[in-house]
Amino acid sequence: MATAWLSLGANIGDPPAQLADAIRRITAHTDVALLARSTLLITKPWGKTDQPDFANLAIGISTNLDPLDLLAYLQSIELAMGRERIELWGPRLIDIDIIAYDRLELVSPRLTVPHPHAHERDFVLDPLRQIAPGTAAWLIARKR
Ligand code: ATP
Ligand code: MG
Ligand code: MG
Repeated sequence: MATAWLSLGANIGDPPAQLADAIRRITAHTDVALLARSTLLITKPWGKTDQPDFANLAIGISTNLDPLDLLAYLQSIELAMGRERIELWGPRLIDIDIIAYDRLELVSPRLTVPHPHAHERDFVLDPLRQIAPGTAAWLIARKR
């Protein structure tokens, strides 16, 4: 069993409802169990600022899926929920990113963990600190 920390965000449609729906879908997998869920935070857009505010939260899961299978499963949920990739960091119905997968460090074409921008994003770190302060501290420390 591995522990993975996920960051979820949305800024079009009904963001709180989409985040709740995404959590339901993620934890519906027989190889995924919910460990923790942060509160929902309203945040200013990062990277591309001329778009609506985001709703963000973090969850912790326990899973038997290996990292790439977990990514594929999360992407299938994004697709089923209507996510379209139009522009980098643009408005989205749902984004589900793997922030960390145990203390694994992996750089591959489809997946980089820890997430390459996690340590510099308050919208990722603030929810994560609520449920996994040690992991949030590790993300920052490994980039010093
Ligand atoms: P960012 O990754 O900077 O937050 P984004 O979430 O908007 O941007 P997406 O369009 O959701 O980007 O994903 C682009 C690609 O990122 C995906 O196709 C996926 O293969 C890749 N990717 C690499 N590492 C990760 C990760 N840790 N979590 C999720 N996707 C990742
Ligand atoms: Mg993202
Ligand atoms: Mg993403």
